[in-house]
Amino acid sequence: MKKILKFGGSSVADGSCIQRVTRIIQQNIGADHEVFIVVSALSGITDQLLGLAKSLQDNQGVDLKLKQILDHHQHVIQELALDTPSELQNKIEVISAQLKQTLTQFTKDPARFLQWQDELLSYGERFSANILTANLENTGIVAECLDARQVIITDANFGDAYVHYQRSYDRIRAYLKGHSKLQVITGFMGATEAGTTTTLGRSGSDYSASIFGAALNVGEIEIWTDVDGIMTANPRLVDEATTIDRLTYEEAMELSHAGARVIFPPTMIPALYKHIPIVIKNTFNPDHPGSRIVPNRLVKGTTTVGLSSVSHIALIRLQGAGMVGVRGINARLFTCLAQQGISIMLVSQAFSEHSTCFALKPAEADLAVQAIEQEFAYELELKYIDKIRLEHDLSLVAVVGEGMQTTPGIAGIVFNVLGQERINVEAIAQGSSKRNISFIVRDKQVRTAIRALHRELFEEKTGD
Ligand code: ASP
Ligand code: MG
Repeated sequence: MKKILKFGGSSVADGSCIQRVTRIIQQNIGADHEVFIVVSALSGITDQLLGLAKSLQDNQGVDLKLKQILDHHQHVIQELALDTPSELQNKIEVISAQLKQTLTQFTKDPARFLQWQDELLSYGERFSANILTANLENTGIVAECLDARQVIITDANFGDAYVHYQRSYDRIRAYLKGHSKLQVITGFMGATEAGTTTTLGRSGSDYSASIFGAALNVGEIEIWTDVDGIMTANPRLVDEATTIDRLTYEEAMELSHAGARVIFPPTMIPALYKHIPIVIKNTFNPDHPGSRIVPNRLVKGTTTVGLSSVSHIALIRLQGAGMVGVRGINARLFTCLAQQGISIMLVSQAFSEHSTCFALKPAEADLAVQAIEQEFAYELELKYIDKIRLEHDLSLVAVVGEGMQTTPGIAGIVFNVLGQERINVEAIAQGSSKRNISFIVRDKQVRTAIRALHRELFEEKTGD
C-alpha cells in the first residue's frame, strides 16, 4: 500500500527514538509498502526556536539559546554515530550557517518579525529531516530529504498559513515524478508563491502529512506519536481509559477541539475530502493497532466514542430584563468580542433570551468584560442589563459520538449521572453537529464528572 508515515517530535526526541523510527520505516518497506516520511522537529526544538526569536526581540541571551539548539542536534548526531566527517555534518553546517544568517536579517528588519520567525522555525524540521535521512542511509535505506517549501504553496499568513491545495498537489506530483528515492519530508512548513518560508500552525506536521497524503492518493496516513491512539478519556483522569479503535473524522475533530491533543484538527480536511483513513500509532508500542479515523463507522451499540475536557476556563454571564425580545444583543456582544480578537469556546442562551453565557480562556476574560461594559454602557447604566458576571476555575466537558444523533436519551444519561454525583452543571450546549454534548462544571468536580461518565458510558456498557 502507498502510505504516509508521519513522526512527531516525541518520536524523534533522541538517538534511540530515531533508531525506533528507522526500524518502523524498515518494516514498512519490508512489507512492500510504498512509503513517504513526514517528520517534525526534535522534541522541544520548536519551542526553543520560538524562545530564540523572543530573545532576538529583547536582544538577550541569543548566543546561549542558539548554542543550546545546535548542541542538542550535535548530541543526537553523536548518539547515532553519524558524527564522523560526513555529508550530514556538511549539511548541518550549511543549515546552521543559514540559521545564523536569518538571525542577522531578523535584527536588521524587525518590522517583519513574523516572517523571520517562520523562517527561524523552519530550521527545526530541516535539521530533523536531514538527521533521519542520514540515519536511514546509514542503515542501507536509500533516502533523500524533501524540503516541503519547494512544493507546499501557501498565502503569507505567517505562523498559520493557508495552504493552496490544488497548486500544492500539482507541485508535489510533478516533483515526485523526478524523485524515486524514499522521501523524508519536512513537516510544518510551506512557502509563498514567491518562495518566502511560512509555517502551518503549531503541530502543523500532521497537516503536512495529510496534504502529501491527499496529493499522492495514498491508502493510509499514519500519524506516529507517543500514545496508543485516541483514548476514550484523558488517561491522567481515568485509569480505565482505553483506545478508541475506530472513529469518524468528525468525532476526532470534536474530541480534539475539546482538549484531546492527539491530532491537529485542520489535518483532517485534505484526508476527509479524499476519504483517506488516518491511523494514530504509538512509536513506543508499534504492535498496538492504535486508532483508525475513517469516513464512517457502524454506530450500532457504540453511540458515544469518547470524553474530553478543557480545564481552567472562564465563563461570562450576561443577563437582564432589558434583553428579552431585543434584537441584535447577541450580534453586538459577539462583534465587540471579535473586535478584541477574543475567541469563544461555548455559548448558551436560554429560550427566554433573558440570559446568554459563554466560555473563554481566562487570559482573555478581563478584556472581554471591559469590551462588553463599553459596548453595553447605556444598557448597564439603565439597568436593562445586570452587572456582568465573570466566573473562573471551570471546566468544559464534551461527550462525543456519532450515534448520539440517532439514539434518544444520551443527554438524559449524561445529566442523570452528573445528578447522581451531585455535580452542579453551570452551562450546557449541544453542538449543532449533534455529535457533541458539552457542558461546564467546576474545575474541582471535573475528575469526578469524567470518571462517573466514563463508568456509565464505556465501562459498564462493554460487551453490548
Ligand atoms: N514542530 C512543530 C511544532 O512543534 C510542528 C509539529 O510538531 O507538528 O509545533
Ligand atoms: Mg510537535
